[in-house]
Amino acid sequence: MPATDSRPAHYTGLIDRYRERLPVTDATPVISLNEGDTPLIRLENIPRELGTDVDIFVKYEGLNPTASFKDRGMTMAVSKAAEEGARAIVCASTGNTSASAAAYAARAGMTAFVLIPEGKIPMGKLAQAIAHGAVVLQIKGNFDDGMRLVKEVAGEAPVAIVNSINPFRLQGQKTAAFEIVEALGRAPDYHCIPVGNAGNISGYWIGYSEACGHNTASCTLCHGQCPYLDNPLTDTRPVMVGYQADGAAPFMRDEPVLEPETLATAIRIGNPQSWDLAHAAVNESGGWFDEVSDDELLATQAMLARQEGVFCEPASAVSLCGALRDVRTGRIPAGSLVTCTLTGHGLKDPDIAIRGQRAVQTVNADLQSVKAAILAHI
Ligand SMILES: *Cc1c(COP(=O)(O)O)cnc(C)c1O
Repeated sequence: MPATDSRPAHYTGLIDRYRERLPVTDATPVISLNEGDTPLIRLENIPRELGTDVDIFVKYEGLNPTASFKDRGMTMAVSKAAEEGARAIVCASTGNTSASAAAYAARAGMTAFVLIPEGKIPMGKLAQAIAHGAVVLQIKGNFDDGMRLVKEVAGEAPVAIVNSINPFRLQGQKTAAFEIVEALGRAPDYHCIPVGNAGNISGYWIGYSEACGHNTASCTLCHGQCPYLDNPLTDTRPVMVGYQADGAAPFMRDEPVLEPETLATAIRIGNPQSWDLAHAAVNESGGWFDEVSDDELLATQAMLARQEGVFCEPASAVSLCGALRDVRTGRIPAGSLVTCTLTGHGLKDPDIAIRGQRAVQTVNADLQSVKAAILAHI
């Protein structure tokens, strides 16, 4: 160890890591919980069983501080809100945005107001919002109603919106694409991602575009000054593929869905706010939208947990679920390099994960019973 530099090699979050690629200055107070830097895990058992040579990696965003990718956008949104002197933030949420907003508000000494659809958010996410001291307003409506109300109330009360209509959210979220390009040493051929409000697919497209020096219409904040323009990390961008749950698939219907329904509550959204940006990502990249059923996405969630040791929440499994189908049909061709975003951790919604699974076995507390139970499975 050189004696001149005694700083520990300590990761301090994505704003510090990508400072020159984000709209922050020395005057921006960094509100961070060391989000980002999540693992990119290569699947081994599932592709082998499928008999495919498609190389599939999952970006495990469930390992962020509040266990979803929302932390990437939230560190930016809350830091910028703090810079502007905000004392309070507000969001509509299917659960993960509220968990993240609550944690970052706690860190910043702000009050978080979160609007959630009554009875439709998993207990893990609700527990996080409560634990971090957010004011939880359960509305008698769905996410889309909450979103409309947040936009209305922000005009009437001194609260900063931290939903992904806040452009700083997408700036933080784009860093996941930077990490993937750095980890692979190139851009993937296909990037598969669940789509709800459609902020994340838009953020990834900004990130992939910046990483290869492209200036996109969606890249609104750098005004052509993106540092990667002169010094690109790579020279290609992936095809972007967005998957939805079939009961909440406005991109497949080509219009808002009034009563979205899916067990994947994180993407139970009928009127996505980043409609145009998501279309731009798919069209510019030559990609597509598709949908999967609740049964299919739950089967993929279980398969990933059992065969690869990676536990994600139901909405997250949509990316791999769609990708595997497209690999099987050849729409994603042999030899491709595919990345799938796993947006949140399976522990967020344990009730779903154990639904219908083989139950826990009860045995007597003696050696003979335990031994018999073990041998029955070998
Ligand atoms: C928010 C969220 C999504 C959807 O992301 P959008 O940016 O709204 O499209 C998907 N999965 C999980 C776990 C989420 O929390």
